Amino acid sequence: MTATVIDGKAFAAKLRAKVAAEVEALGASHGVIPGLAVVLVGEDPASQVYVRNKNRQTREAGMGSFEHKLDASTPEAELLALIDRLNHDPHVHGILVQLPLPGHIDADRVIDAIDPAKDVDGFHVINVGRLGAGLPALTPCTPLGCLMLLRDHLGSLSGKNAVVLGRSNIVGKPMAQLLLKDSCTVTIAHSRTRDLPEVCRGADILVAAVGRPEMVQGDWVKPGATVIDVGINRVTGPDGSGRLVGDVAYESCAAVAGAITPVPGGVGPMTIACLLANTLTACRRSLGLDPVEGLTP
Ligand code: NDP
Repeated sequence: MTATVIDGKAFAAKLRAKVAAEVEALGASHGVIPGLAVVLVGEDPASQVYVRNKNRQTREAGMGSFEHKLDASTPEAELLALIDRLNHDPHVHGILVQLPLPGHIDADRVIDAIDPAKDVDGFHVINVGRLGAGLPALTPCTPLGCLMLLRDHLGSLSGKNAVVLGRSNIVGKPMAQLLLKDSCTVTIAHSRTRDLPEVCRGADILVAAVGRPEMVQGDWVKPGATVIDVGINRVTGPDGSGRLVGDVAYESCAAVAGAITPVPGGVGPMTIACLLANTLTACRRSLGLDPVEGLTP
């Protein structure tokens, strides 16, 4: 079997276009432009690239983009004061603090300070709890993107066996909650899981989010399964050149799976597209409007 390639890049482009059209319609009907504030503390090169891309795509969607770059030595109190201002700024509907933060800043305290209604990353415990309780929440962007790709490819996920590899707060745990909400039978695997290959072989849906280059091998995959590769790992080839690989050994898994996301071009582009979707959702909720269909779980 040769797997269908799930084109996250194309799906993300369609999603951004849908968000842009809804942003325009909201401006026409309510005179409100959704605004996203992105806060970057320090000079981490990867974070700078992410923040640049987020700001560009926010503007391209017709939204307000507010960038706050703070020095790496910024005291925590100063960052908390900025978040307080953004919480009260009526032009800002979404607040994202780029992680990781410098060591002297307590990331949990910072996330806790964000107004849950503006927490477009979905990391605030209120949103985590609401997702777990099956209530409307702002949902972490990467797992939301994975869910959209899965629904688009498979239709109903009900009754499927899903294995999520990884239990981070950013990807693994919210991914498992979303799959459970869609009535999958969910297993969460992690570094202490016994006989990981055998656990994975039971999956109709396998989501890999471990941060280990090409860990999932073809003989871990059930024939016909849908494989979602969240991993983004930079590896150096024998000739010294760098390239990106996922957590899945693509060639061997694509030979067995029914469908698979590539790296790059799979889950990666969905994350920012879902951030824009969440910002629109937060803005609409602030106006007492329901989210646009298809943009929330
Ligand atoms: P974390 O490091 O926070 O979590 C990794 C998880 O994988 C942990 O739960 C860990 O288990 C588990 N794990 C690690 N090694 C093994 C192993 N050998 N066997 C089984 N489980 C293992 O990573 P993230 O969740 O933040 O990210 C995962 C990957 O996704 C990374 O490659 C990251 O770059 C990528 N990513 C991509 C995004 C995108 O936009 N596409 C966004 C966010 C992340 P334990 O808890 O027991 O330690």
